[in-house]
Amino acid sequence: MTDKTAFIRDNVQELENQGLYNTIRTIEGPQGAHLMVNGREVLNFCSNNYLGLANDPRMVSAATAALARYGVGPGAVRTIAGTMTIHTELEGALARFKGVEATISLQSGFAANLAVIPALVGAGDVIISDELNHASIVDGVRLSKAARKIYAHSDVAILAERLAEARSEGANRILVITDGVFSMDGDLAPLDRIVDAADAVDAMVMVDDAHGEGVVGRGGRGIVDHFALHGRVDVEVGTMSKAFGAVGGYVAGSTELIEWLRQRGRPFLFSSAATPPDVAACLAAVEILDDSTELVDRLWANAAAFKAMMTESGFDIGSSETPITPVMLGDEHRAREFSRLLLDEQSVFAQAISFPTVARGKARIRVMISAAHSEQDLEDGAAAFAAVGRALDVIP
Ligand code: PMP
Repeated sequence: MTDKTAFIRDNVQELENQGLYNTIRTIEGPQGAHLMVNGREVLNFCSNNYLGLANDPRMVSAATAALARYGVGPGAVRTIAGTMTIHTELEGALARFKGVEATISLQSGFAANLAVIPALVGAGDVIISDELNHASIVDGVRLSKAARKIYAHSDVAILAERLAEARSEGANRILVITDGVFSMDGDLAPLDRIVDAADAVDAMVMVDDAHGEGVVGRGGRGIVDHFALHGRVDVEVGTMSKAFGAVGGYVAGSTELIEWLRQRGRPFLFSSAATPPDVAACLAAVEILDDSTELVDRLWANAAAFKAMMTESGFDIGSSETPITPVMLGDEHRAREFSRLLLDEQSVFAQAISFPTVARGKARIRVMISAAHSEQDLEDGAAAFAAVGRALDVIP
């Protein structure tokens, strides 16, 4: 008999040869500024827990109370088993926080993108998408039957050309999609200019603000708030798994849009809702952000302090406009080795990121700064980077 799955072994070997094989670390405790890895405490520079909410006692007690009140499971999809009050409370709180008419919560940001894109466009329509958009947008685009045009990263002149092309080719509906904050470089989409370009040809605009929620805008209200574009962006997608510290996703927009997703968003219709403790934690996160900007302010102060230390040491940290700090290394093997030395010799957990998440030859270590980091953590982390950087001749 032939070995029908031998190709898997060959492909895995090929990943290893190219330095692209993912090693997943096991974390023996909660997310926070420090983690336990292999029985050892390490400084955490990997998580999207921007505000330190993943293990915040207020979040834990909200989730615990929801467990006692609602149990662990939602029963089925909401259209069949009914919706729990906790889900509608979250949706109302999010709508008020975001300054939109309505929101719908999904199981994840990934699911939110898969729900909304095919519900808005199909055969005869055109999607115009930034070349660096997240994989879940790429997959949502594929699931819709709309034609796809890609524009060079954040290049509004090229976007305008694609928009004109789509109109002259007789597109029915046109949907422009961009990430709000690009997660590998930390740059912001020029959303104000994107909206102007789209308005000129009556195209819809959708922004995936996964890394902007809880980070940019007033008190973390996101990129639409940052650019004061309220009412001019048709669809906002967000996640609860990053700054909000829990897990889940949502779509924000008009009452009409959200009602349509309750009818036609496939992950909403065919996949069970998030669990009550997850949803309660998400609700607590929105309330914490609504109450005070303290965590968001601390996040930005921490990011500025860390970036200054890294630049001072001579690292190339790209052109991030957010707390995402890419330490550019180029070669994939060098990035892996850098990450290994950080963990083994410096007790700093900072993962190398390489192809296919970023282009070949653009490997990096992406440092995720959090409000949970103390000044000492940031100084220790920067010193660890400098030690490894000198050992590997990345900096003088
Ligand atoms: N969109 C973007 C831009 C993201 O970075 C991510 C998370 N990697 C997602 C969507 C998916 O969010 P979630 O983890 O909630 O599925």
